[in-house]
Amino acid sequence: MTRILHRQIHNSYPLAVGGKGVEIFDADGRAYIDASGGAAVSCLGHGHPYVTAALHAQADRLAYAHTSFFTTEPAEALADRLIEDAPSGLSHVYFVSGGSEAVEAALKMARQYFVEIGKPERRNIIARRQSYHGNTLGALATGGNEWRRTQFRPLLVETHHIDPCFAYRYQQPGETDQDYAARAAQALEDKILELGPESVMAFVAETVVGATAGAVPPVADYLKRVRAICDRYGVLLILDEVMCGMGRTGTLHACEQDGVSPDIMTIAKGLGGGYQPVGAVLLGQHIFDAFAKGTGFFQHGHTYLGHPMACAASLAVQDVIRRDGLLDNVKRMGAHLTRRLGERFGNHPNVGDIRGRGLFIAVELVEDRSTKATFDPKEKLHARIKREAMARGLMVYPMGGTIDGARGDHVLLAPPFIIDAPMVDAIVERLGDAVDAAI
Ligand code: PMP
Repeated sequence: MTRILHRQIHNSYPLAVGGKGVEIFDADGRAYIDASGGAAVSCLGHGHPYVTAALHAQADRLAYAHTSFFTTEPAEALADRLIEDAPSGLSHVYFVSGGSEAVEAALKMARQYFVEIGKPERRNIIARRQSYHGNTLGALATGGNEWRRTQFRPLLVETHHIDPCFAYRYQQPGETDQDYAARAAQALEDKILELGPESVMAFVAETVVGATAGAVPPVADYLKRVRAICDRYGVLLILDEVMCGMGRTGTLHACEQDGVSPDIMTIAKGLGGGYQPVGAVLLGQHIFDAFAKGTGFFQHGHTYLGHPMACAASLAVQDVIRRDGLLDNVKRMGAHLTRRLGERFGNHPNVGDIRGRGLFIAVELVEDRSTKATFDPKEKLHARIKREAMARGLMVYPMGGTIDGARGDHVLLAPPFIIDAPMVDAIVERLGDAVDAAI
């Protein structure tokens, strides 16, 4: 009997005892293909010798040194690397231990920035309906998923959510991508004007929407328009790349493909590839300068920030991605996966869409392919697919419709960047069987 409070209290889980490459093994010796990288985390797969060697070496050298007293080699080297490869304008790094912490830090950074520059009235946060930005209270308030938020009201931070959500793009008859980009960006401008530009602090959005809408990339020009609107009204653009960043979409940062740089960017999951809990916030020079000229510090901090083991693991993961040219493999295998999914599901009566970027791909399940009507959330199709997939030795990340929040069922695929074509083929075959068994 487990004494762990799992999120789903009545579920029991296999005991994972090992992992190698793209597979995880349970105590009964069963292998599971990790087709979701956990939750888009394990970008190098499991037991990568370069990373485990780096972790051993760092543990032998120095496991922990508090950042109020010391800086450390792995933290300095990782910060240099992240800034070297950052979107233009981002000049400094703030380390945290995960995605929600990164979003919390980003929000406080934006807030303190406006206090430092003498505009404390800029407090409003705008985000998008159905979005997910983490589970701590500030991040939860920022996310636009009502199902997750409802029971925690009143939330500590007041946020304002706009439509449309990208998940509905294909349901607008006759609308071009350009029209859609204009309409979606206009919703932001309208909200800024409604609230009063001088009251707005930041717009927060995922570059490619992950967990709640299912790997939905922005249409061409949307983010450029958003960037221009933020600049016009002095609003900070915070891009949350916790899930879609660090190579997952085929470029190190997803926003590179949109030709846009944020003022603040959050990263986590793939940064340390699951070898350590870690995240980071990248911030622009203007924000750093405001702190430097003002109070001289960022009014924030956690015990484990810049943890040497977390930074050593992240540095090793990033070394391997560079050394082995893995972003090219993400592009190649992402194209192969999309092709194979198209062959298997292209005419499936219950598949509404196959979409994504790089190795960040979702299959959307619908009750009716022509109308895109979704299954009743009470049927919990996504949970049944997860069960059927696990029974076939396949881990996929299922996302489900909720009665008043996220809509529709999806399966998210985010396998390790080291995957090869035969393993991609095995994923598609097992997923096909699991979907057919679940529906
Ligand atoms: N932002 C996004 C976009 C995420 O996908 C997630 C996690 N799924 C988070 C924030 C929160 O990250 P964590 O679970 O590490 O706190």
